[in-house]
Amino acid sequence: MAKLQKRILKQPLKPTQPSIAIIGGGVAGSTIALRFAELGLDTTLIEKGPSLVNGPPICHLHAGGNLYREISDEQCLKLLQQSIDTVKVYPHSVNVRPTIIALPKTDKGSPDDLRPRLDKLQRKYAALVENDPTNKVLGEPDEYFKFYSREEIDALVGLPIPKQASQPSDWLISFANYTQLDNIQFPILLVQEYGLSAFRFAAIAMMAIENLPNCVLQTHTQVASINEREVSGWTVLTQHKDGPPREQHFDYVINACGFRSGEIDDMVSAKRQRLVEFKAAYVAHWPQCEGLWPEIIFHGERGTPRGMAQLTPYPDGYFQLHGMTHDITLFDNGLVESSDNSAQPQLESAFIEKIDKQWPQQVINKRTERSIEHLAQFIPDFSSAKVASQPMFGAQQIPGQDPDLRAADVSFDKKHYARAEIVKASSALSASDAILANLAESGLLGDIDIAPLLSSHYFPVSQSFTEEAVTEYAVMLAEQRNYSTSLAKTFKGVVNG
Ligand SMILES: Cc1cc2nc3c(=O)[nH]c(=O)nc-3n(C[C@H](O)[C@H](O)[C@H](O)COP(=O)(O)OP(=O)(O)OC[C@H]3O[C@@H](n4cnc5c(N)ncnc54)[C@H](O)[C@@H]3O)c2cc1C
Repeated sequence: MAKLQKRILKQPLKPTQPSIAIIGGGVAGSTIALRFAELGLDTTLIEKGPSLVNGPPICHLHAGGNLYREISDEQCLKLLQQSIDTVKVYPHSVNVRPTIIALPKTDKGSPDDLRPRLDKLQRKYAALVENDPTNKVLGEPDEYFKFYSREEIDALVGLPIPKQASQPSDWLISFANYTQLDNIQFPILLVQEYGLSAFRFAAIAMMAIENLPNCVLQTHTQVASINEREVSGWTVLTQHKDGPPREQHFDYVINACGFRSGEIDDMVSAKRQRLVEFKAAYVAHWPQCEGLWPEIIFHGERGTPRGMAQLTPYPDGYFQLHGMTHDITLFDNGLVESSDNSAQPQLESAFIEKIDKQWPQQVINKRTERSIEHLAQFIPDFSSAKVASQPMFGAQQIPGQDPDLRAADVSFDKKHYARAEIVKASSALSASDAILANLAESGLLGDIDIAPLLSSHYFPVSQSFTEEAVTEYAVMLAEQRNYSTSLAKTFKGVVNG
């Protein structure tokens, strides 16, 4: 494969290579920069913050979209495929542990409602593996999901919680021992949706870019304005936090500014409808728990006091918590839309203050304690967990007008201008593929045959780092960002407590 890529890249591009600017170094911008620089294209990644992938959090790899009952099967199938591609390109960013989905008795739905979509997802996963065995990154296709009856869970109560999983049911022992089983509908679901670590993703992106001579990274640098050049291309005015303004010229510009994408759209007078939503997850420490934990989802109706509760495990007794109620993860007036005059939805200043500066300690404590109580409805002993750090938070863009859209990637507007519009991290690779195809269509890659480049993901530098090297860099980033270093480690059968 490497030889093939090298041969393709030896085809003449243009007499001079196109210069490509990527504005925004979140998951989307970093992935696009790596994808292009690994192929030998000249890229400049402009990020206003100090490091890459430092925006809203990521903890769950949506390999099937099973957290979202309200979205279409098509979106779920797309998320499955995109997640498989993500694991293949960034294996060390993944925490390999399954997800349990349980429906409280108060929930209007029934576990049986989940089955038809799971069957479709399993068939799709099996077909992907049959077509290409390297797609088998979520375990055996026929073990993609499994339902467990009350009797099967009761049989696990009292068993010591294992340190390593040797069979799928080992992941259920902590759940069986700590959950108030009488409040849950049976069967419960175990599905191979893994964890995805923002710190480890950031570490891989930073290390790879340091080793890719074709990518120039400009951190602490904000794009202040963009103007279309007379002949072709763009003039981008940037402002470094400590330096004078600087004018740079590019043939192609990619807007990957996440929830601030509308600001760049406004600079180039590109119209776009989008939503922006501010949300937060909380970090708690529960060192008393012991052994292997899966991620646990207690379904519930979003935006009501019974909104979904999500417990995401990390090593050393740390947990990330979501509660889809307005006093935990969601916020009153936290969802805003663009207007006829501006492609940038306007969040209230209190949210921008939280994003750009910091949260008042009182609010951190109040919301984290509520998230602990929300989980303790189902796992009573969890009430002894303590606030561990500041929350993990941010705003995300959702293109269009449907707040339930979860699988989106890219849109094009002006000549040589693309927008990355991912809602979930796993869509970043398909955004990069679509932009690569658009670059070729616009003639900027000369006569190169793009098909072989699109049919595979070529990331030799990004994939060259060992798991230990990724952990070391990720731990450093977690420290710099004031989070527990345990959040940067993998949860692969690690013993808690
Ligand atoms: C609470 C919460 C939990 C989430 N959990 C998950 C999850 O479990 N799994 C999942 O897949 N997704 C999750 N998401 C969504 C995920 O965080 C987003 O999909 C992802 O961060 C979007 O990446 P992005 O690169 O498009 O944008 P961002 O990560 O927002 O990156 C945009 C970057 O652009 C930079 N920028 C902005 N304006 C400028 C400018 N003018 N000049 C230079 N740089 C600029 C910013 O500094 C930022 O670094 C969650 C989101 C939230 C809010």
